Amino acid sequence: MAPTLSRRRLLRAGPGLAGALVLAGSATAAPVPAPRATTAPRPAAPEPSATPSAPAPVRPLRHPIHTLRDYRRVLPGPAFPADAVALTIDDGPHPVWTPKILRLLDKHHVPALFCMIGNQVLGHEAVARSVVRDGHQVANHTWSHPTEMAGRPAARMRRELHRAQEKIYDTTGYAPALFRSPGGDWSPGLLRAAARARMVPLDWSEDPRDWSRPGVAAITRRLLSARPGEILLCHDGGGDRSQTYAALRTVIPALAARGLRFVALDHRHP
Ligand SMILES: [Zn+2]
Repeated sequence: MAPTLSRRRLLRAGPGLAGALVLAGSATAAPVPAPRATTAPRPAAPEPSATPSAPAPVRPLRHPIHTLRDYRRVLPGPAFPADAVALTIDDGPHPVWTPKILRLLDKHHVPALFCMIGNQVLGHEAVARSVVRDGHQVANHTWSHPTEMAGRPAARMRRELHRAQEKIYDTTGYAPALFRSPGGDWSPGLLRAAARARMVPLDWSEDPRDWSRPGVAAITRRLLSARPGEILLCHDGGGDRSQTYAALRTVIPALAARGLRFVALDHRHP
């Protein structure tokens, strides 16, 4: 059983994350603006319309993470191997494609980061749990996957993040500390919202546009062009992912045979 954490604890980072973000702030965060009268720092105070657990803000990053090098710059830890790549899988969990992909990953001993949509976890709880049970990582990919997330009002951003976070945690016991915006749509406001929710914004290096079903060959070709240090994107949700699955069946062993090593993006809240 996962330890029971209060909602307050869930949405607060441990000292590790706070430290990492402050550290990141020295290298990549935006300068801290002078406090305005209406937003004087109140580190422990809940935000007005948020859950009672609304976390204290931390400095937002200027850009989301795109590569393993960025990742390590923001989140200190042991260096990734020189031949490392990371696989990220978005928009699930899905009752058909997620289990198939899980079996494939298991066969090749490949870890992945599943960027889950809260309202897809809803109704597919057992699938979400199987992702975590298999040892994979989970990121927050909003509650409802809104288009143009970067331009949404701050309250909507906050709701999308927090509702997904609660659903993922309540279902799996895993509290994501990485956040991926739908379509990689970012703005300073969204980066601030992620920081307030104690989440690190994550993008990708290589996008085969598998969601648009360009054909197995096109997806395969793009993924096979992966180079060390890249974060690869593909999808297990959002529709028929048979092309993605077929491509991964070729790509995973082929990249491994080329000497690339799949690594876990394992940053999470305690
Ligand atoms: Zn998505």
